[in-house]
Amino acid sequence: MLEKARELLQTYFGYPSFRIGQEQAISSVLQGNNTVCVMPTGGGKSIVYQIPALILPGTTLVISPLISLMKDQVDTLHQLGISAAFINSSLSAQEAAETMEEAVHGGYKLLYVAPERLESYEFQEMLKNLQIPLVAVDEAHCISQWGHDFRPSYLQIARLMDKLQDNTVVLALTATATPKVRDDICDSLDIDPTNSVLTGFERENLSFSVIKGQDRLAFLKDYVKKNRNEAGIIYAATRKTVDQLYEWLKKEGIDAAHYHAGMKDIDRANEQERFLKDQADVMVATSAFGMGIDKSNIRYVVHYQMPKNMESYYQEAGRAGRDGLPSECTMLYSPQDVQIQRFLIDQSSEQGRMSQELEKLQQMADYCHTENCLQAYILEYFGEREAEPCGRCGNCTDTRTSVDVTKEAQMVLSCIIRMGQKYGKAITAAVLTGSRNKKVLDFGFNKLSTYGILKEQSVKQVTELIEFLISTNLIGVEHGAYPTIYVSPAGKEVLTGKQQVFRKEAVQIKQVSNDDP
Ligand code: ADP
Ligand code: ZN
Repeated sequence: MLEKARELLQTYFGYPSFRIGQEQAISSVLQGNNTVCVMPTGGGKSIVYQIPALILPGTTLVISPLISLMKDQVDTLHQLGISAAFINSSLSAQEAAETMEEAVHGGYKLLYVAPERLESYEFQEMLKNLQIPLVAVDEAHCISQWGHDFRPSYLQIARLMDKLQDNTVVLALTATATPKVRDDICDSLDIDPTNSVLTGFERENLSFSVIKGQDRLAFLKDYVKKNRNEAGIIYAATRKTVDQLYEWLKKEGIDAAHYHAGMKDIDRANEQERFLKDQADVMVATSAFGMGIDKSNIRYVVHYQMPKNMESYYQEAGRAGRDGLPSECTMLYSPQDVQIQRFLIDQSSEQGRMSQELEKLQQMADYCHTENCLQAYILEYFGEREAEPCGRCGNCTDTRTSVDVTKEAQMVLSCIIRMGQKYGKAITAAVLTGSRNKKVLDFGFNKLSTYGILKEQSVKQVTELIEFLISTNLIGVEHGAYPTIYVSPAGKEVLTGKQQVFRKEAVQIKQVSNDDP
């Protein structure tokens, strides 16, 4: 059957060979195994279900939450001479009924549906009359509470599978699945984890870097000018910042476009078009921009503010360099970003999800503080084991020498223990620097032996040291009503002198008054 698959790849899609992972996933599906396929965006997941759909008898059901992309997918399939249709809320009841009628008569090799549709009675009735060899679940991370985009309607899929013929195969596809999310996908869709196909997430042409302690606006100004005439995206956390940055770039004579959910549909579409057609160099946008965007020559992605988790970050940063040419992904970090994201999480999360989201936020912040390879950090976050340093990122190319900071680390750790391991990093930094602030005095922390032992340093420097120790897992964070810090088992090894701590020489921190526009 793989012979057949290769033939179809050539005749329908015009590609001479499969990419890494595609063949393995297709062969697993054709052998009748429930399968999970994790590939980075652009890795070629569609073909993994489209080819089995062509080989297997009956209609393959494709569940996708991205209504806007369904039509594109179906149009593309039509151009290739493959019969396909979609049913989602963009169709009238009449159109949906007609499509279902046609489906029952075996009219389609592929039928795309939004997950909400699975709840519809008419749809369930129709399914009874369909031969469904394969259910492809796109964006399968939506099934997991641990995913960054949980959708309750995805829980319907497991129920659907119970109703279909016993030999119906399920194929879950996603670009972002941490080990926890993968477990959830396997559990809920009854996939044997040994039938997982994971392809490398490394993007060898991307170099990552994190810029800290600099005036962001000044940095951005230089950066965009240096990269004049190159296509780039600047992501900001709020609509207001997008508007401000956009105005500012225009004033500087830069061909910028902008995009956020607060704009009129038509304006948004025009701006997107200008960027896609290379009429604007820079797109300034919130995370609303980019889903399904196919622009290969993006040379850089700058995050003006830190996003809420690594999934969002890698997805957005990964829009750079689709053409395989060297491209840069830069994060401009400021500590207040963590507070902004924390606030947004507080506002929007349901009770049950809060601690998960805070943990993800912490891992995002750790990315900004680690001194190890940034690409390796990302790969390990997404479940690769012992990723090699990339040699390209800001940390790999950082030539500053590492200095032994074991002693300072011990001071911080022992202060945390003396404070009872139930306070946050701000007050810990205040105690270490000998602050006379009211809270410190009220708690009597000025009587601790560790009070003021780092007083020759600024609160900012000590806070950064604490953040660095968090990123190296010597300090743990407990996400209760507010985050508190404690000494981890590895931290205890440092306290007892069994382990040393090295850190790159402190950066020269430019004094800045206000780094936002
Ligand atoms: P994903 O869904 O994983 O983001 P797509 O399925 O949209 O990725 O595929 C990304 C691009 O790669 C598409 O343009 C697709 O035609 C192309 N592609 C997929 N498989 C192959 C292959 N085996 N050889 C060459 N190009 C491929
Ligand atoms: Zn690196």
